[in-house]
Amino acid sequence: MSLWKCPGQDRSFWKPEDIFESPCPHCGQSIEFWKDDITLRCPNCKQLVGNPRFDPGCAAWCSYASKCLGEMARAIQNQPQIIRTRLEVALRKRLKPEDRDLLNRSLKAAQRAEEMAMAEKAEPLIPLAASLIGPAARIKGWSREEVLALLAEAGIDENTAGSICRLLEPGGDQSNPYRRIIDQATA
Ligand SMILES: [Zn+2]
Repeated sequence: MSLWKCPGQDRSFWKPEDIFESPCPHCGQSIEFWKDDITLRCPNCKQLVGNPRFDPGCAAWCSYASKCLGEMARAIQNQPQIIRTRLEVALRKRLKPEDRDLLNRSLKAAQRAEEMAMAEKAEPLIPLAASLIGPAARIKGWSREEVLALLAEAGIDENTAGSICRLLEPGGDQSNPYRRIIDQATA
């Protein structure tokens, strides 16, 4: 039996700069990190130190990430930026080349929704997703099931996906605090 190895995490593909030194934030001791180290224990003060350059790019997509990185992979895969990127990919897959204007409009609406949510210190994922998917869902006439499938593909949990769907229904969920952000972002 041969053990499968992720090429992104296989050290034989590495360049010299993939190994570097960074000072311990607790005591200043220089620590040698390899780029796939997530945390190391400082050899001087014995505190756990996070790798300042750990790149979650591979782990964010790779379905084997939990084998390489364990629990950490799940935390990485749930980062808002990662979910946002996966949402965009899922949307792009469903649109055709001639939908380019719609795609650009949707990406701008999502950007506006995220900025407005951040300015109000609100969680950006729901308004961002609703603003990104809403215009396409309306124009293409996607069913609730189709929207849910897209959201699931991006790794959004069922509860959050349900809230997003209710916000996409025409005139739906007027009392939702995200309603105004989404209406403004997609206007
Ligand atoms: Zn230290």
